[in-house]
Amino acid sequence: MKLCRFGPPSHETPGVLLHSDGSETRLDVSGFGEDFGERFFETDGPRRLAEWLRVHQKSCPAVEASVRVAPPIARPSKIICVGLNYREHALETGADIPQEPMIFGKATSAICGANDAIVIPKGGTKTDWEVELAVIIAKRAQYVEERSWRDFVAGYMIMNDVSERAFQKERGGQFIKGKSADSFAPCGPFLATTEEIKDPQDLSLRLQVNGEERQRGSTRDMIFSVPYLISYISRFMTLLPGDVISTGTPSGVGAGMKPPRFLQAGDVVTYSVEGLGECRNEVTLFSA
Ligand code: ZN
Repeated sequence: MKLCRFGPPSHETPGVLLHSDGSETRLDVSGFGEDFGERFFETDGPRRLAEWLRVHQKSCPAVEASVRVAPPIARPSKIICVGLNYREHALETGADIPQEPMIFGKATSAICGANDAIVIPKGGTKTDWEVELAVIIAKRAQYVEERSWRDFVAGYMIMNDVSERAFQKERGGQFIKGKSADSFAPCGPFLATTEEIKDPQDLSLRLQVNGEERQRGSTRDMIFSVPYLISYISRFMTLLPGDVISTGTPSGVGAGMKPPRFLQAGDVVTYSVEGLGECRNEVTLFSA
């Protein structure tokens, strides 16, 4: 099942994405009565929604294509990002290959829709892209055994771990400063539940800026796998249903280019992860 949400910021409505005869339809499932947040995931929401749809699908209205694509999940309790999780990306940033996962937080207020604008914050001069596979947690996860990782995954989506490099490293730390401006976590366009993605460790990722390819990789090349990351992170904090782990980016970020190149107002960033759709963000400058 593909979960989506739609509508303007702060007035977002849950939906599902259906495919038939090559066309895509968004259905409004607000009649189900639950948003896609912590309570939904912790109570086996995707399965309950699928059952509800068997009876009620015909009465769910279709959503017009012009309606904004919202983040597919309600604001989670946390977004945990994994740094330097692809060897070539670690090398392009001049870092050592990590011996254990390097993790950092991203403010949950950074979340935006898959096609929303990326807004360069005040004082930003080095806003950069990072296409990533994001994992959404299904249930409370503490000291998870790696082998039982599947029990803790609700699904997957794309996340762009947008980063203002001038705030990330040059302002006294920590990374969270450069990762948390509004719009720095475009995600979606839908959440694919686990049966849609056979192997999260075999998905291609691509990103283009103004039509020019910048990133092309595969989740096969992650240094630390999704099962390991869930187990690892859960030793340091309890992951709650609906929380997001963004699993790191392959090489090809702007900071790694010679000379470095960053986003400018008017640029268009498009990216995809295999099986998880496509996102498209125009870049604008912050204006109060
Ligand atoms: Zn990242």
